Amino acid sequence: MFDRIAILDWSAAGTPKTGKDSIWLAIADGSGVRSENIPTRMQAEARLNALMAEGDRLLIGVDFSLSLPAAALERLGVDAAGLWRHLATNHTDTAKNLSNYRNVAAELNQRFEDDGLFWGNGAKADTPHLPRTKPTSALPEWRACEEVAQSNGLSPKSCWQLAGAGAVGAQSLTGMPMVHRLRERGATVWPLDPISRVTIAEVYPSILSAEVRAHLSRHPDMVPDQAQVELLAQALWVLNAGGTLPPLFDVEPTQEGHILGLNHELSLRAAVPSAILPPRLRNDCFAMPQGVNWVPVDAALDKLKQALHPIKGVGTINSHKAQGRILAADAVARRSNPPRPNSAVDGYGFAYEATGDYPQKLPLLRGRAAAGQPFDGAVPHGAAVRILTGAILPDGVDTVVLEEDCALDGASVVFDGPVKPRANTRKAGEDVEAGQTAIHAGQILRAPDIALLSALGIAEVQVYEPLRVGVLSTGDEIIARPDMDALPHQIFDANRPMLLSLLNGWGYEPVDLGHCKDDPKLIERTLDRANVDVILTSGGASAGDEDHVSHLLRTKGTLSSWRIALKPGRPLALAMWDGTPVFGLPGNPVAALVCALVFARPALSLMAGSGWAEPVGFTVPAAFEKRKKAGRREYLRARLNDQGMAEVFKSEGSGRISGLSWADGLVELPDEAAEITNGTPVKYIPYAMLGLR
Ligand code: AMP
Ligand code: MG
Repeated sequence: MFDRIAILDWSAAGTPKTGKDSIWLAIADGSGVRSENIPTRMQAEARLNALMAEGDRLLIGVDFSLSLPAAALERLGVDAAGLWRHLATNHTDTAKNLSNYRNVAAELNQRFEDDGLFWGNGAKADTPHLPRTKPTSALPEWRACEEVAQSNGLSPKSCWQLAGAGAVGAQSLTGMPMVHRLRERGATVWPLDPISRVTIAEVYPSILSAEVRAHLSRHPDMVPDQAQVELLAQALWVLNAGGTLPPLFDVEPTQEGHILGLNHELSLRAAVPSAILPPRLRNDCFAMPQGVNWVPVDAALDKLKQALHPIKGVGTINSHKAQGRILAADAVARRSNPPRPNSAVDGYGFAYEATGDYPQKLPLLRGRAAAGQPFDGAVPHGAAVRILTGAILPDGVDTVVLEEDCALDGASVVFDGPVKPRANTRKAGEDVEAGQTAIHAGQILRAPDIALLSALGIAEVQVYEPLRVGVLSTGDEIIARPDMDALPHQIFDANRPMLLSLLNGWGYEPVDLGHCKDDPKLIERTLDRANVDVILTSGGASAGDEDHVSHLLRTKGTLSSWRIALKPGRPLALAMWDGTPVFGLPGNPVAALVCALVFARPALSLMAGSGWAEPVGFTVPAAFEKRKKAGRREYLRARLNDQGMAEVFKSEGSGRISGLSWADGLVELPDEAAEITNGTPVKYIPYAMLGLR
């Protein structure tokens, strides 16, 4: 339909302005999206004129309302085009952004009987006939499209409101005159006019607010307005390029106008994610200064933390189905919890002001307030009403007395004063208020999080796509499955099933890449075919003759062998294989597990979007004795005895898989020398804290 899509975020600022809340214009076409920050309305209009003159088929989306509620147009005696002409005639603006829109609004207000409809004067000086606060008016506040938006869960602002956060009125009064002039030059205005070479439509960027938040969490330096116009321009472009834009334009033309994308919110939102795919990891991201020295564990972890970032795209998901998924954008409450003040107990409700210090006797009204069944009517001062837990406080009630503390005397309720004001009630929003961030991006969603999302009316959340992690075992001696026949020199593959189940417990998508003999060609082909985000290999990771994995990664990928001062653990091979990070873990199962827990776990967590995962341990007295030299960190297979002391497995032999299974966690001994005797405090990290399930 269009060759280019321009989205304009307008501003009624009174001085030239850039940055937040100024004019942003994003232009999307087949070559991507670019945005411009334009200081004044006059410059923006000139820019649109220039764009129009370039000859492309152009859609211009503007974020201000292009008309007024029908009843208001009727009262003014104009149709939409008449309103635009009127505004273009009466509105003046300057190169310094000095607009007379308040006078224009005041003049229109005088044509209504009461105090008119435009309100909200943000200026110091009063403007006669322009109230500062919202008047009580008989004319409707909303256009039909805004009512649709509201029932679709959006919160449009009234076109009558000129000032205040997110107010759109002043933008409409300063924008519609420009629309009139663009129309004079041949543009058409949807849905009143037919679609033409240059079509102007009203848009509502907040449809993409969740996607914008996700985008901003990965581009913290970006101005929200800029992210908003860029994502909307891109999403519309994606639909346009895919031929699925026309349904969005298919509405009844009315003088009130319409919002493009309304009732197509999901297809618009779905068109965004491809545009916000994260940057790829750099090929040299694992580079470590090579040297003779062993790298301390913490230095290696710091290096990994710097090198990696989230690598998955983002999608929208029903929050009921989001268990175990990683939140990609802050979840913001759509509704307060509780939505209205209510009673915390079963009892009797009344106005605190009507009670005193002595025994109280209040006439009891007929009827009751129960959860889901509000009391019908108001409670007169000095009267009481039966109220049950969770019931909305009826008008006139701010305090509740517990039923156990009351006596009933036919028509009255009797209790001892004084009572505390607002006793036994819950304030609206005392848990979470609408608009507050309820859960921050990065959170792995658990059952309680899902309860919170539901309570706050958050039906959909932005989550990262699950991280796909491939696991490959290597070694001539390895037999893939324990149900196969093994010769004496062969051993069953223990690492691959261990790592796959580890990944499963961490909430990633494990992908079994099988087992390869020590054959570089075979390993190469397997790595090439793996359709995964990250690869974990085990075996062959040292620098010896038979260490085909490290050899292959060195020659065909970018390998960095990290000599880490860690026991158990041999060099950790970290490499990029055609853009995919590879963690070459040691073959020895004990070392493979420890390296996976110490290095792969936080690194995968970061790449998956839930941030670097610091292991949480606690200090307990040792139930063992050990003397260790300085220079490397050690992890011992451990568990707590019935006195809460850490005992360790009888052997430190790195082939002893039984010790891994015997243990419930690891004891971490520091890099420095240590002399541990019975009772010495040591750091114990339970398996559960490492995500082992
Ligand atoms: P490598 O790192 O290949 O030198 O292997 C070190 C030790 O771990 C050797 O004894 C291997 O047999 C053993 N090993 C390697 N891979 C596995 C595996 N997948 N399962 C069990 N043991 C393994
Ligand atoms: Mg081997």
